[in-house]
Formats: sequence, C-alpha cells, structure tokens
Amino acid sequence: MPALTNVRHEKFARAYVVDGNGRKAATSAGYAPKTAEVTASKLLRIAKVSERIVELREEQAKKLDVTALDVARRYAAIGFSDPRKLVQVTCGACRYCWGQDHAYHWRTEREFQAAHEAWRILSDAKRALIDEPVFDGGIGYRSTLNPNPECPECDGQGMTDVTLTPSDQLTEHEAALFASAKWGRNGIEVKLHDQQTALDALAKHLGLYKDDDANKAVSDLGALLHRISNGGASVAPIATGKRKPTNQENDQ
Ligand SMILES: [Zn+2]
Repeated sequence: MPALTNVRHEKFARAYVVDGNGRKAATSAGYAPKTAEVTASKLLRIAKVSERIVELREEQAKKLDVTALDVARRYAAIGFSDPRKLVQVTCGACRYCWGQDHAYHWRTEREFQAAHEAWRILSDAKRALIDEPVFDGGIGYRSTLNPNPECPECDGQGMTDVTLTPSDQLTEHEAALFASAKWGRNGIEVKLHDQQTALDALAKHLGLYKDDDANKAVSDLGALLHRISNGGASVAPIATGKRKPTNQENDQ
C-alpha cells in the first residue's frame, strides 16, 4: 500500500507506530490538541488508516530484522524464568553449630588472628566493652555445613544466606530475567526484570486479554505461553554456587 493520499492520515499513522500514543500522534499530524484523543480513536477506526499502521509496523520490524515471535519469545523467557536459578536462599550452620563445646567456630587460624589483632589495637575504652576473641571453638567453620540440631545458639535453625549463580552458568532462557548487578552498601545488588509486566505484555501482544473472554484467556494463557516459552528447546539445569555437604562431612 502506498502512502495514504490524505496527508494528515499518513502523518498520523507514521507518528502512531512510533509509540502507540494516539493523542500525541493526532497532535503531531496537525489535529486540534484539545480533542486529539477523540480524533485519534476515530482515525484508528478508519480501515485505511489502521491497515496503513499495520503495514508500517511490518516495514519497521523488517528493517530491524525482528519478528513478532522474537518479541513474544523474549517476553516469555522473562515471564517464565525461574528466579531461583539466579538467586538461591540457602541455610547452613551458624558459627556456634560445630565449634568445640559450641564456642565461636573460626574458619581458619588466620581469621582468628586477624580478629584478635583488630581487638588488640582498639583503644582501652573500646577494648573494655568488647570481649577478647578466644580460640576455644577451634577452626573448620564452613557456611555450607548443615546446622547442628543440638546448637544452643540457633536451635538447629542455622543461618540463611543468599547465593548468586555466576552469570556465565545461566542458560539464555534464565539470563533473560537478569536485568543488572552492582556493588551496593551491603554487597552485590542484583535486579531482575518484572515478570508480571512481561507476562502482561505478552498476553496483550498475543491478544489474550479480551473483555468478553477474559476468563477463557486466563485459562488458555498458561498452556499457550509455556509452548512459546520452550520453543521446542529444552532448558538445561545449571550448577549453583554452593553445594550441600553430606552428613558425613558434618560429622568430621
Ligand atoms: Zn547454630
């Protein structure tokens, strides 16, 4: 279809494909700003205009070498990635679980010496307030050890910890959920894309939200999107950063 003969219609269609904002498109095509919203909805109901918009969108996608399926797959990958593959909340021994007589359990002798030195160089006033680190619990602490059910400090509940999966261990599908990471005040801060937003966008993209058919759309949504999300390819499991120790390891 060549450009529309009505110049304002053509301008409106071209502006509308930029961001789908009817009011803005009508204004930039020269229609009165006050009634631009009403004008836009009238224009969108004209067959020639709506056909032209579809055509311009197809041209745009062709130039970008992006298909509607590419976009849908991306939304689906974000929407259906399992966040636990990126971030794991684990539970391991506390510092008193496996220390000798449940005294503070050091990782290594060097860790103990560093803590003792930090205490030793405190001012007299501060040192009077902080207990001198003692070696009674011995060394060998690992956060990956299972909690000790006999531990008087944590009652066998252990300590929760957050482990991140190195990004090179994520599949393409899982990595879609990853937005950004940076050093924050309390360590690494990881941001994930909003899965609900992705699913909403996908459902709209596929035309699944229809007023008269809302319930059916919801029931069909899961099955349909899972099919698209998998796209025939299997999703391989990834290794996590930490490994749960066996009971034998704990007994040593
Ligand atoms: Zn404990």
